[in-house]
Amino acid sequence: MFETPTSTKQHDESRQGEALILEKDPQKSSGRKLYIESYGCQMNFSDSEIVASILLDKGFETTRDYKEADVVFINTCSIRENAEQRVRNRLKEFESAKAKNPGMVVGVLGCMAERLKSKFLEEEKLVDVVVGPDAYRDLPNLIEKVDEGSRAVNVLLSREETYADISPVRLNTNGVTAFISIMRGCDNMCSFCVVPFTRGRERSRDPQSIVKEARDLFDAGYREVTLLGQNVDSYKYENINFANLLQMVALVDPLLRVRFSTSHPKDITDEVLHTMAKHENICKYIHLPVQSGNSRILKLMNRTYDREWYMERVDAIRRIIPDCGISTDVITGFCSETEEEHRDTLSMMDYVKYDFAYMFAYSERPGTLAAKRYADDIPEEVKKRRLTEVVDRQREHSLERLKTYVGKVHKVLIEGTSKRSDKDYCGRNDQNTMVVFPIDERYKKGDYVDVHVESCTSATLIGRIIG
Ligand code: SAM
Ligand code: SF4
Repeated sequence: MFETPTSTKQHDESRQGEALILEKDPQKSSGRKLYIESYGCQMNFSDSEIVASILLDKGFETTRDYKEADVVFINTCSIRENAEQRVRNRLKEFESAKAKNPGMVVGVLGCMAERLKSKFLEEEKLVDVVVGPDAYRDLPNLIEKVDEGSRAVNVLLSREETYADISPVRLNTNGVTAFISIMRGCDNMCSFCVVPFTRGRERSRDPQSIVKEARDLFDAGYREVTLLGQNVDSYKYENINFANLLQMVALVDPLLRVRFSTSHPKDITDEVLHTMAKHENICKYIHLPVQSGNSRILKLMNRTYDREWYMERVDAIRRIIPDCGISTDVITGFCSETEEEHRDTLSMMDYVKYDFAYMFAYSERPGTLAAKRYADDIPEEVKKRRLTEVVDRQREHSLERLKTYVGKVHKVLIEGTSKRSDKDYCGRNDQNTMVVFPIDERYKKGDYVDVHVESCTSATLIGRIIG
């Protein structure tokens, strides 16, 4: 996978395999240690926080070292074959720790668990417990079964579970920006995608619990929330739609920035765009995955929009929110894609001039509609060459877009010290671009500052605080 370095953090490459660490609760501690690491999209990282909350409540404490853990969990991703391979390799590394400590419980959670179900127990002898994304409340019970000597599986998908009442614990964060899951699952059947099979039916979370979570985060010092869902524009809870929810969260406090991801081009409405335009604290940035710029391929992908529809939505964004940043996801070498159709993707990129993009070569996933209906007939080297062309084009566009930000003043939320230099702060502008600028002692993490941007790379704006 390729992505430009200023990612939306929906899939943050630098966090893959990260272990979650919590403060222990001395009142409840049973002394048992949990090690949990996560792969894939932000939804999985948020789910791991829910898992940790559930087990913390049962007296667990967390450890950074799987070798000293009593329970080792790996929260997995199935989106592409290499994501699954990564997990299999990681499981091999747990083998020697388990040999030394046979009482250690090894569990596989998330999308791969859901996809492979009990087959996982046959294929990986090391694994004791397999748990799908809707069954985390059952974990204490499943661990108990393993303690009693059985292996355990719960991969039941639910039509209701949203974990709305479980407040996730957030300790691996910068204390300024946080993610809030607003819905689970997906009802779109994009032919390439495994998500509807691994995460089940789409369901929206009670808006009151979302607003409460946003308010609690604000009170705890957070200044930005990203509302998360596979298709946020189809959010619906009784008579509340996504535009209504967005407004409710924006009204929590004018100092709380609101972002969201992901928008499906078929569902993003003018009402959402007008709501964004109306509230200064809703960031002017939309992640709008195109996947392909060719209508025949989009039809085979079952995306339910065509090239013209997508362009019209981009025109609407530019009309209603002229300064909006737009990013995307692209797949190269989907079944039967011709060179000409691939060039339609490049020309779509020229039309939109995305701020950045996540770009992938098509990876066939077992059980998906595409795997059943179409031959995966584009040779690997052709997929890769097309991917390189897409990546190169995006690099040009990112630089072009960022250059338009130079010479202007941007409102930036300070997220912390820059990774590259402890003399600089970093934070993002409204359009989600990373901005780096010298530390000014008058301001701290969580403050908003006006930054005059003086130069840029293809991924970062460089400037200094004014005023
Ligand atoms: N729900 C979001 C949407 O519809 O745009 C995205 C969900 S998916 C976790 C993130 C991205 O992974 C997709 O937008 C797509 O570009 C990519 N993806 C999904 N399945 C893929 C596959 N089989 N091969 C390559 N890329 C894939
Ligand atoms: Fe997958 Fe399509 Fe659902 Fe996104 S909208 S999760 S790509 S099925």
